[in-house]
Amino acid sequence: MKEGYVAEGIREEGPGPEDMEKINRYTRRPFGEEEVFVFSMVLCDNQVDRDGERFPAASLEKLRELFLGKTCIFDHQRSSSNQAARIFDTALEEVPGESVGDGEPLTRLTARAYLPRTKGNEEVIALIDSGMLKEVSVSCAVARRVCSLCGKEECEHDAPRLLLEPTDAYECSFVAVPAQKGAGVTKHYADKQWRALEEEARWGRKYRESLTADVLKYSALVQPELPREVMKSAVKGLSMEELASMGRTYEKMAQKALPLKPQLAVEKEGRFEGQNREYRI
Ligand SMILES: [Zn+2]
Repeated sequence: MKEGYVAEGIREEGPGPEDMEKINRYTRRPFGEEEVFVFSMVLCDNQVDRDGERFPAASLEKLRELFLGKTCIFDHQRSSSNQAARIFDTALEEVPGESVGDGEPLTRLTARAYLPRTKGNEEVIALIDSGMLKEVSVSCAVARRVCSLCGKEECEHDAPRLLLEPTDAYECSFVAVPAQKGAGVTKHYADKQWRALEEEARWGRKYRESLTADVLKYSALVQPELPREVMKSAVKGLSMEELASMGRTYEKMAQKALPLKPQLAVEKEGRFEGQNREYRI
């Protein structure tokens, strides 16, 4: 988990035609400029954070792609509904004259997000506008976390760790109370990883069950001769994303009532090696 913030001192001029074009890639119908509220955030940068970790610029570049289209939820008490903003634009911005380790210029990953100006969003918009809501927590998964001195994952060096090869970016959320800011809470990586895994496991289990149920349901329609137990064990090694995509594929096939397509069995082989060591940050 990293902390970002709503960019200060940026007066939003209101979305222009280029912004609307990007925003309307995510909406079901074209929205007008007056219908959306737009704000900017700094999601993270390439400096060493209080966990002693940093994203090299190459990782930020990958995160820039991964955060596009992700949602930002408002996790504060006063709003009971599930308001969410969507990130429609991301960029890397170098800060002139400032550099971080390895001689890289200080680089920030910024994002612009929109939310519709509905009655239900009025309060949240006012809270962002007034600066009451500005801390966001951001999380993502990386494939490797290495020592900045020797490049190994396990070593004795007391050196910053580099977070490499981001594989996923998750929803970000606004934090109501800016607790812990500068409080010097040092989290050990193992704890953090454990907590992240625990959280992921809790949400993940439910989601996985529902995805698996979908796949089994539709595959039974499409491939009735395939024993359920075989299918069950076949989907066990798949990632959520693969399960979801498989479910959608089977659903389409079931809907079209096409004859069975044996390539599904091939499709899922060999695609998921070496990805079982993701770190959730
Ligand atoms: Zn080392």
